[in-house]
Amino acid sequence: MDCLFCKLVQGDIPATILYQDDDVIAFEDIAPQAPTHFLVIPKRHISTLNDVSDDDAALLGKLPIVAARVAKEKGIAEDGFRVTMNCNEMGGQTVYHIHMHVLGGRAMTWPPG
Ligand code: 5GP
Ligand code: ZN
Repeated sequence: MDCLFCKLVQGDIPATILYQDDDVIAFEDIAPQAPTHFLVIPKRHISTLNDVSDDDAALLGKLPIVAARVAKEKGIAEDGFRVTMNCNEMGGQTVYHIHMHVLGGRAMTWPPG
């Protein structure tokens, strides 16, 4: 499958990996939008949030757990951080393998753009 993040999972494109286990991987975003900006993704390909089902509950439940764990390791947990998942074009999704953005190290604004 021609998916950027599947290639990253397989090690075919380089990434700065912050955490991984059998199910999920966290890595630095290549174009950070905040002093800290990393992504947490399932290793198994799922294109968008529209494609998830009850069978994915345990897998997807790991994403915020890993997000918080890495946020803590990076020292942004206490001050606070933003978690975002963009879905499809209007949501701003550009890579069609679901991913959780974790942004921190600066104050976030609301509403998001
Ligand atoms: P989306 O726009 O789909 O919500 O987020 C995709 C994210 O993936 C963007 O923040 C973008 O900077 C990041 N990204 C795109 N290509 C690469 C890549 O090759 N490596 C890494 N580490 N991040 C990427
Ligand atoms: Zn993929």
